[in-house]
Amino acid sequence: MNPIELPTLAPAGPAALSPEDTTRLAAEVRALAEERNAVILAHNYQVPEVQDVADYVGDSLGLSRQAAATDADAIVFCGVHFMAETAKILSPEKTVLIPDPDAGCSLASSITADELRRWKAENPGAVVVSYVNTTAEVKAETDYCCTSGNAQAVIDAIPRDQEILFLPDMYLGLWLEKVTGRKLNIWLGECHVHAGIRPQDIERWQAEAPDAELLVHPECGCASQAMAFGNEQTHILSTEGMIDFSKRSEKQRFMVATEIGIIHRLEKEAPGKRFEPVNKNAFCKYMKMITLEKLRDSLRDWKHEVTVEPQIAARARGAIERMVQLG
Ligand code: SF4
Repeated sequence: MNPIELPTLAPAGPAALSPEDTTRLAAEVRALAEERNAVILAHNYQVPEVQDVADYVGDSLGLSRQAAATDADAIVFCGVHFMAETAKILSPEKTVLIPDPDAGCSLASSITADELRRWKAENPGAVVVSYVNTTAEVKAETDYCCTSGNAQAVIDAIPRDQEILFLPDMYLGLWLEKVTGRKLNIWLGECHVHAGIRPQDIERWQAEAPDAELLVHPECGCASQAMAFGNEQTHILSTEGMIDFSKRSEKQRFMVATEIGIIHRLEKEAPGKRFEPVNKNAFCKYMKMITLEKLRDSLRDWKHEVTVEPQIAARARGAIERMVQLG
């Protein structure tokens, strides 16, 4: 269960479907989901037509909660592989399908269970906090799992004199050091999409759209810089936090520093407001491997089932359940 090999993909996303094909495929998907008593969960970074056909759209934490609570017989997870693994660990009695089993994550692939075991051996007694973007085998070596939505609450819940190993995202780790005022041992992993959002993107937009609120995901390479601006228009938020914030805000214009798939959800949840990516190339090709056709095929042909070895799942479950309960 090493991190999966990530395939090389063309930079463009899936070919656009015609409106007629979208409508036809969406109807097929909904009919199959009903017939199979399957719930469709989709991450905020999925393509619009997959978000629109899902039962729930959300971030890793929200979708994990849905996976744990559902009474459906099966879960079809439209997201990347570690997310579907997490759903399987939380609902071991259910069938979990992923429309494309090659949908990996460069961040989850940045640390293996062997590397984590070595790091733990070098730091005996340290508590391990892993971001949810990790394989099940890494989670099995973890004390607390977290998402960007509850990472601060997780760190705050650990006694201040306790040494912490934080992995795998270095930008999230650096942001946590700032907001919690604690020194962490941070693994030097990164998400290629968020690391590609640079401080220059923020500076450019500050000059071009001074009236806009800036919403920044803490995985971004620009997050520390955005915090340094310390301006009241800058908000470091998880994707779900961005949605809550923009719905409640009286402001009309928002610059968004995360994967561009979130723009569709923001426009749906806060209609009439203006959302613009700070970097149009912040595009996760692994998230975009899931298409409406592959979702239909997965439900129709009952393929690609996600499995996790029971011993690994048993060891990973505690860390994930703490994540679901906290924050
Ligand atoms: S956006 Fe980054 S962290 Fe999220 S799935 Fe893609 S590669 Fe992984």
